[in-house]
Amino acid sequence: MKQIIFLFALILFLSACQTIKDKKMTEITGIDSSLSPGDNFFNYVNHKWYDTAQIPPSQPGVGAYMFMNYPQRLRLQGILDSVSKADNPTGSIEQKLGDFYGSGMDTSTINHLGYEPVKPLLTKIDQISDISSLLKLVTDEAKMGNNSILGFYIGPDNKNSNLNIAHLYQTGIGLPDKDYYFKTDAPTLAIQQAYKIYLAKLFELTGSDMATAIKNANIVYGIDKQIASSHKTNIELRDVNANYNKIAVNDLAKRESNIGWQKILNELGAKTDSIDVGQPAYYDKLNSILKSVSINDWKIYLKAYSLNNYADLLGAPFVGASFEYNKTLTGQSVQKTRGEKMASQVDQLLGGALGQLYVKKYFTEAAKQRALELVNNLQQAFSARIDKLDWMSDSTKQKAKEKLFAITKKIGYPDKWRDYSNVNIAKGKYFENVVSASSDNFQYQLAKLNKAVDKSEWFTTPSTVTAYNNPSANEIVFPAAILQPPYFDNNADDAMNYGGIGMVIGHEMTHTFDDQGAQFDKDGNVRNWWTKDDYEKFKTKTQQVIDLYNTFTVLDTVHIKGAMTVGENTADISGVAVAYDAFKMTKEGKDTTKIGGFTPDQRFFISVARIWRVKMKDEFMRLWANNNPHSLPMWRVNGPLMNSTHFYDAFNVKPGDKMYLPNKDRIHIW
Ligand SMILES: [Zn+2]
Repeated sequence: MKQIIFLFALILFLSACQTIKDKKMTEITGIDSSLSPGDNFFNYVNHKWYDTAQIPPSQPGVGAYMFMNYPQRLRLQGILDSVSKADNPTGSIEQKLGDFYGSGMDTSTINHLGYEPVKPLLTKIDQISDISSLLKLVTDEAKMGNNSILGFYIGPDNKNSNLNIAHLYQTGIGLPDKDYYFKTDAPTLAIQQAYKIYLAKLFELTGSDMATAIKNANIVYGIDKQIASSHKTNIELRDVNANYNKIAVNDLAKRESNIGWQKILNELGAKTDSIDVGQPAYYDKLNSILKSVSINDWKIYLKAYSLNNYADLLGAPFVGASFEYNKTLTGQSVQKTRGEKMASQVDQLLGGALGQLYVKKYFTEAAKQRALELVNNLQQAFSARIDKLDWMSDSTKQKAKEKLFAITKKIGYPDKWRDYSNVNIAKGKYFENVVSASSDNFQYQLAKLNKAVDKSEWFTTPSTVTAYNNPSANEIVFPAAILQPPYFDNNADDAMNYGGIGMVIGHEMTHTFDDQGAQFDKDGNVRNWWTKDDYEKFKTKTQQVIDLYNTFTVLDTVHIKGAMTVGENTADISGVAVAYDAFKMTKEGKDTTKIGGFTPDQRFFISVARIWRVKMKDEFMRLWANNNPHSLPMWRVNGPLMNSTHFYDAFNVKPGDKMYLPNKDRIHIW
């Protein structure tokens, strides 16, 4: 597959140049020319838009980036609405999609059932009598997608990337991250409180009196907190080697004798001699608290986790309780419409089927070809940049280029679609439909165990506005949905596209060489390919990135977490630099003719600032800054541009401007 793409890449590269005349000039709106571009370029480009943009009450934010998934879901809803009304042959993907969606929209049946669908599970939890029956229930539920204390999954072996193995990941807490249990600032305390209220509400809705419900919520929270103490922070999770611990099942069974690993693996249907235990401290902790926490308290914990897992599939009071908690986290003021929720759920569970209908309606082969051409041009620009690096030895440069040209490029949608023949979807059976799709997903993943990795698989759906780099396959992936404005417009001039999707491509390409990506070789294995000296220099450079981003304030006491976001920031800094170099290879890039009052270079940087044009609720900014490995949008623009001398030249940024960094302090990695 790689070879075919290479050949293709070469042919396209030769015919890459577009003439400016052919292209519609994207009109640039929203710029506030009363502001100085060198003080805050994100504001300069987006201020007027920001002042008038309205955040829909059902959303935590509005604009580009992840918030484009809101209109995307409305598109999916349109597709699902029409298939649900059509007369589809039984077993066809249209029937499954339509009936799944229809069953989720049937709120009168769902509300009438209330929590009837989970009553058998609650009864089973009541019947738990010891650790063994507790773990049996946990395992049965994991096979249906309800992961409480068991973070089991199948994925490539980081040190043998062609083989899928079993992995265990830390899990078992309800708040977004361990820090939420230990921080004592007012916004965190409010979230802890909202979470406890939510837990109590779940007990109340299933028959407990208020005093018992509150008592139970505190028991669950107490277990959560004990578990959280064993978790790694989201910064510690970035260390690839420290989170790889392949352990023989026999040894693991001895080490964690209360868990009974052999039995769990048998129940799961996972035949394996070893497991990569990502975070052993969590499973060691689980092993000890399985004994120290009473069976009765564990039953309460499992009820809460199961009710939380299924809340959105139950009657309105459960959905409402779940929303109230999420509201505190995200700031979103009203619930999403049922249709939007169903569209995103169908996309999540039957994405390979919905994706087929989506690309048929919304994606063109021309967009795919143009995007591939940009990817190829950026690859050439990246290679030229490696040649020019002044801090790296020739031998490491050679290895870096081998890795660069070994990258697999996926654009638009998968070559082969996932099969859902084992998923049973029936009208009016919403809960059962979700369980069937989730169970099928578990079996689909499990079937990969000890098998060769299928490198053609995608880990996002075509309708999702995102892009990713998968280091274990050394691949970069751009789904159909990101190939639309403001990222990409097949009719726009090169400055807009290179500053837009070009930056995204450069960003994903740089992930191949960020703090984590740099630890993987060209075949996707964690293996050192650096000289010691070069790797030390690289680490000094990534430390500069951490130090710079630590200085950025998001809100009151909230800062960008430099160490958590270093990979993304590195990808942003070099992503813009590579995209700029590739742009300069185009006809427009070599020109100086102004369009709409701006030079081609200025249009390039304006485009960079437009693709992160986003407005968010404060709560959501806080949630983002605490957990998201990406910097907030303003810093995805200003951070890289503070380090771009070409940006300084384009907008005449001078000492005294707030974004100005002296030349010696500008970070150049790739
Ligand atoms: Zn990224």
